[in-house]
Amino acid sequence: MDFGIRGRNAIVCGASKGLGRGCAEALAAEGVNVVIVARGAEALEAAAQEIRQKTGVTVTAIACDITTPEGRARVLAACPDPDILINNAGGPPPGDFRNWTRDDWIAALDANMLTPIELMKATVDGMMARGFGRIINITSGAVKAPIDVLGLSNGARSGLTGFVAGLARKTVAKNVTINNLLPGAFDTERLSKTIAASAAAAGKSPEEAAEARRRGIPAQRFGTAEEFGAVCAFLCSVQAGYMTGQNVLLDGGNYPGTF
Ligand code: NAD
Repeated sequence: MDFGIRGRNAIVCGASKGLGRGCAEALAAEGVNVVIVARGAEALEAAAQEIRQKTGVTVTAIACDITTPEGRARVLAACPDPDILINNAGGPPPGDFRNWTRDDWIAALDANMLTPIELMKATVDGMMARGFGRIINITSGAVKAPIDVLGLSNGARSGLTGFVAGLARKTVAKNVTINNLLPGAFDTERLSKTIAASAAAAGKSPEEAAEARRRGIPAQRFGTAEEFGAVCAFLCSVQAGYMTGQNVLLDGGNYPGTF
């Protein structure tokens, strides 16, 4: 299927590795020019080079922290009128809410709620004026089924989800859709680190802990960044223009509910 987005311009945040990288690759494969963003310049440049070679699209790498006003200004200067915006940043650390300070909460809200909102604020009116826009927020399965040690993530991402539910109904008449992608367990660097930390706490090897986690998922495996990127590219397609304000769970069947 041709997704009808060849020649469009996208900003993809958190794109040197993992799920953001999967989204950047899938969009580039559809002929979308991508501005990719991550903090570490070296990994980001390597990713840019690979995506260019594979797809031939224009890839611009901006090494910055997207959660800062300076970082966002640099990204928007490189791509002031994106047609597609993929919001993504690292998730907050695990812990017990009794130990979290106001500063911990502000950092989580900045990264996982206010940064995507700032980027939407800077781009959505232009998209509406031009009559096309696709915005995807990478959130988490924790929005639908909270994970107790990830209270900062549960809270901050739910705030974003509530905001998006309202805004998505305001933009769709101008062909600008806003949807959230909710990953379950995907085989990325972040997942390996999370599993290693929980294994150490439980006195198990990382391999044992990963195997136990895999066995608990109906699909019996972790998702791949390629699978995640493919769904993202579809949500950015011309064909997905009637779908907005949705929370799309990709978790290999892990969420046990009927809806
Ligand atoms: P990852 O660590 O593999 O990759 C994260 C990417 O984002 C890297 O390119 C990193 O450089 C970049 N990044 C992180 N913080 C940034 C910042 N402040 N500014 C710019 N770039 C930044 O992580 P991932 O597994 O791809 O996860 C992406 C998001 O999805 C995270 O918010 C994570 O919490 C969430 N998530 C992941 C899973 C999973 O199983 N992988 C599950 C649920 C939620």
